[in-house]
Formats: sequence, structure tokens, C-alpha cells
Amino acid sequence: MVDLTLTDEQKDLREMAHNFAEKEIRKVAWEYDRDATWPQDIVEKAWEVGLMNAELPEEYGGPGLDMLSGCLIEEEMGWGCSGIGTSLMANGLAATPVVLGGSDDVKKKYLGMLTEEPKLASFCLTEPDAGSDVGGMKTRAVKQGDKYVISGSKCFITNGSHASLYTVYAKTDPDAGHRGISAFVIPRDADGVSVDKKEDKLGQRASDTAVLHLDDVKLPKANLLAGEGAGFKLAMETFNQTRPDIAASAAGVMRRALDESVAYAKERKAFGVAIGQHQLVQWMLAEMAIRLEATRLLYLKAAYNLDRGVRDPIVSSYAKAFGADAAMQTTVDAVQIFGGNGYVKEYPVEKLMRDAKVLQIYEGTSQIQRLVIARNLLS
Ligand SMILES: Cc1cc2nc3c(=O)[nH]c(=O)nc-3n(C[C@H](O)[C@H](O)[C@H](O)COP(=O)(O)OP(=O)(O)OC[C@H]3O[C@@H](n4cnc5c(N)ncnc54)[C@H](O)[C@@H]3O)c2cc1C
Repeated sequence: MVDLTLTDEQKDLREMAHNFAEKEIRKVAWEYDRDATWPQDIVEKAWEVGLMNAELPEEYGGPGLDMLSGCLIEEEMGWGCSGIGTSLMANGLAATPVVLGGSDDVKKKYLGMLTEEPKLASFCLTEPDAGSDVGGMKTRAVKQGDKYVISGSKCFITNGSHASLYTVYAKTDPDAGHRGISAFVIPRDADGVSVDKKEDKLGQRASDTAVLHLDDVKLPKANLLAGEGAGFKLAMETFNQTRPDIAASAAGVMRRALDESVAYAKERKAFGVAIGQHQLVQWMLAEMAIRLEATRLLYLKAAYNLDRGVRDPIVSSYAKAFGADAAMQTTVDAVQIFGGNGYVKEYPVEKLMRDAKVLQIYEGTSQIQRLVIARNLLS
């Protein structure tokens, strides 16, 4: 029998996350978006109440929550503001390769940094000439004695300007394609690390997106994660765990779009009745609700699998691809329901539409998710 009932702990956590999103995020989200302000105070409060680093293991100071609980938090943050939600959740993406591939000492040191103070970490895979095509990366890590020397640049790095540590992918063997990629954990204060170019974005403007430069950064061998040449596999295993979070964030954005649209459809009148009385508006509302529910079921299944040790990247890709596309269509429909008001910043839904777009781009575009799925079908 399939049981979709949440435990009492999960329900309490979701309620706590929702109250946080309502009180601390929703009321300020539009100002943060307008000014592209970094939400430092919200990061500190979220860390304080335990809404960050949800899945970090207890032995390294984290709450050790299951994946499903992490997704429930993510949906509520997405409902409040997916830009601020991305800032809060990026530690999970950056820390997962350390959890999966770090030695006990490395985990104690670097995961401990995140759980002892409200510090941030960034996941650094993308380069100017290597986004979807990860194997095209040019960042190099060269072994010299008991150290690696790393040089290159990473772009579009979430929380890059504010992070205290980076998980960075670099080629240890430039001729070996994906098998030549290795992953490292690099502290911000290492010589040769610098950050610039905060991006001025379409949406999720409260999240920081920056460029990371590594100029002959010398790292102890111990900072290599999962062994030489294991970086690509580690990145894919990480995405398998984090893509359900993106689907959950998409569900949050959709839920918000639906809440706003239902309220508006009851209030706004056209042809003598509330627009919610017109069947074509009802159609859009119903489609929004169906997409939201289907996204929820997909992220729940993906998280449920992970929590039971079933490693099925396809379900994570289903959840990410469907959820991101569903959030995009749903927020476009929300703007449509608001008519002209939907197109201006005085009303809430244009921000949701701008925010939703990146869900189809980061952590593997919607096209790349389909490639993963199709390759699996054909293999
Ligand atoms: C706000 C934001 C935050 C981000 N945060 C991070 C982060 O924290 N860390 C990080 O490492 N990266 C991050 N990224 C980068 C993101 O993961 C990449 O932008 C994404 O993987 C796409 O890579 P690209 O931009 O190089 O596009 P490209 O790879 O150049 O793709 C361009 C288009 O071509 C399509 N395409 C490419 N190859 C194929 C193919 N084989 N078949 C079909 N279609 C294809 C893509 O789907 C896309 O539509 C972030 C990006 C943004 C915008």
C-alpha cells in the first residue's frame, strides 16, 4: 500500500517553515527583488531556527533530516520567495558532494563550518564555456607533491559572493573527458580565491549569482572529494539528491501563483460577474491545481526513494523537469488571469513568472533532464 501521510514531525516542520515564509519572507520579498538585495538577516534567522542545512548528518552537527522533510521546507520557501529560498537552500547543493565524497576529517571541518555558524557554501560546476556540456570545463587541478594547484573560473555561482567555502570541479586529466573531472572543497580564505561580477538577473533577484576565480590555489590532497576522476559521478549523484528540492521549490512557486490567482479571480469583475465565473478562467485555475499536485507527487516519490536508499536519478529528473515546466506555465497563466494588472510590478504575479524561469535552467536544463530520461529509456 502506498501511504502519503506525513509524520507528525514532518507536519510540524512544514508548519514552522510556512510560518517563517509568511512572517519573515513574504512581506519583504518584493523589496528584495526590486533592489536585488542580499537577504543576510533572513539567512541568519533561517539558520537560527533550523531551516538551513536540513539534510546534513547529525554526526557533523546538522539536523539529519530526511530528504522528504528537506523538500517540505523547500516548498514553503518557494511559496515565500524562491529567490530567497535558493539562497537558503544552496548549502544543501554545495554540501552534498562533501557528505558523499569527503573523508571524516574533511566532513568534520567543512560541514562543521556550516552547522556552527550561519555560513554559506557554493557548488561550482558551470564555466563560461561549459554549462550543460560539463566535460568541456577548462578549470585545471594539477598535482604537485602533496598538494593540488587549481586554476580557472566558474560562473553563475549561487551565493558565490557570500560563501565561506566552495565545492569546485576541475580537470585532473584533461584528455579523459568526464572521467578526468575531480571535485575539491576549497575554503574562501585560500590564497588565489576571488569573486566578482554579481549578475543582474531577470528573476530570483534576492539570490546572489557570481563569478569565482581560482588563481593557482594550493590545496592539501585531503580536500579532494571521492578520489581522482570521480568528480562527474559525484556531481550527478549530488543532482540526483537535489533535483527533487527544485521540484519542491517549483511546487511552492505554483502554490503561491494559485493562491494569488484564486483570490483575484473571486474579486475581479468582468461582464458583470467575478472572472472566476468564466469557464476559461476556471480552466486555467484547474490546470494550475493539477500541475501543482502532480509536481508534489513526483517530488514526494523522488524523496521517498532517496530516503529508502533507492538511487533512481530518473525519478529525480522527472520531478525536476515536470516541476520546472509546470511552474513556468502556471506563473504565465497567473499573469494571464491578472490581465493587465498581471504585467505590472504593483501586483504579485509577474515576479513569480520571472522567478520560475530559472527553475528550467539551473541544476540541468529542461532539455538536459529529457536527455537523461531518454538515454535511460534507450540504454
Ligand atoms: C540564477 C542561476 C544560478 C545558477 N547557479 C549555479 C550554481 O550554483 N552552480 C553552478 O555550477 N551553476 C549554476 N548555474 C548555471 C546553470 O546550471 C547553467 O546555466 C545550466 O546548466 C545551463 O548551462 P549554460 O548556461 O551554459 O547553457 P548551455 O549549456 O549553453 O545551453 C544553452 C541551451 O542549449 C540547450 N542544450 C545544450 N546542450 C543540449 C543538448 N545536448 N541537447 C539539447 N539541448 C541542449 C540547453 O538546454 C539550453 O536551452 C546557475 C545559473 C543561473 C541562471
